[in-house]
Amino acid sequence: MFRHTRRALLALAALVPLALPAGAQTYPARPITMIVPFAAGGPTDTVARLVAEAMGRDLGQTVIVENAGGAGGTIGAQRVALARPDGYTLLLHHIGMATTPTLYRKLAYDPVGGFETIGLVTEVPMTLVARKDFPANTLAEAIAIIRKEGDGLNYGNAGIGAASHLSGLLLMKSVDKAMTTVPFRGTAPAMQELLAGRIDLMCDQTTNTTEQINSGAIKVFSVTTPQRVAPLPNVPTSREGGLPAFEVSVWHGLYGPKGTPPEIIARLSKALQAALADPKLVARFAELGTAPVAAEQATPAAHRAFWQADIAKWRPIIQAAGQFAD
Ligand code: ASP
Repeated sequence: MFRHTRRALLALAALVPLALPAGAQTYPARPITMIVPFAAGGPTDTVARLVAEAMGRDLGQTVIVENAGGAGGTIGAQRVALARPDGYTLLLHHIGMATTPTLYRKLAYDPVGGFETIGLVTEVPMTLVARKDFPANTLAEAIAIIRKEGDGLNYGNAGIGAASHLSGLLLMKSVDKAMTTVPFRGTAPAMQELLAGRIDLMCDQTTNTTEQINSGAIKVFSVTTPQRVAPLPNVPTSREGGLPAFEVSVWHGLYGPKGTPPEIIARLSKALQAALADPKLVARFAELGTAPVAAEQATPAAHRAFWQADIAKWRPIIQAAGQFAD
């Protein structure tokens, strides 16, 4: 009797792996594509490449970063929402995932229900930067020029819903003056225009501006976080500079398409946690003014809760501003 039960149990145990979706057993069996919804060489791309390389080491597979910039990040996000949910197409996106659902009323994909969360990655300070010969040296002087020149100034951003767009709105609202906005596929091309002096101002993550600021290639007026940023010790916070309402930091998260099997999401989340503990990644993040989130934040549940709270936080702000992409 016992032997029969034992045999039955063994037979059952042998069947268990079959209960997992075929792909989940051997995942990952081939390279994974991580879509960045902005141009190569920009701040989101920089974070993604560091994470992809370290995740690849844990997964034993290459994680290839592909840039699909444009339309404030919605082109890249759409690619992932509509991709096969097999763990081979991922999205590394930022705070735009929380603002897109309100900013864009017509999209060809579901900006919330179209995704599975894998984990939060990092939160990056923004900086207000200007071309090298911009005629101001402090935030107060920059504000005076913005108030005087208004739409005679060109403000570069990465499209509606981008962090640079949101920060620009916040800045223009804080100083009560609009500038002319010039959208790019990401802030990497916008930075080239700033370096060439063809645009005047931009807000961008420290992951793209720290080295340009410290080499003197561009000017900086403030960091948009409550505390100063370690690699930019002489840059005042917006609050110190007299503009306390100009505070924003840019969180990043990793997503898969809706329907990606839970086992695969769990494997990816584990790889993300390993990546965020990688000393090389931690050191490079620190040089760029940021740090990885704690391991418990790099989980699907913590990520979803944070994302949902941020959607709820931004919705009334966007609605009150009457700012829609369509
Ligand atoms: N910094 C950009 C933004 O404004 C995105 C990027 O190019 O990474 O959202």
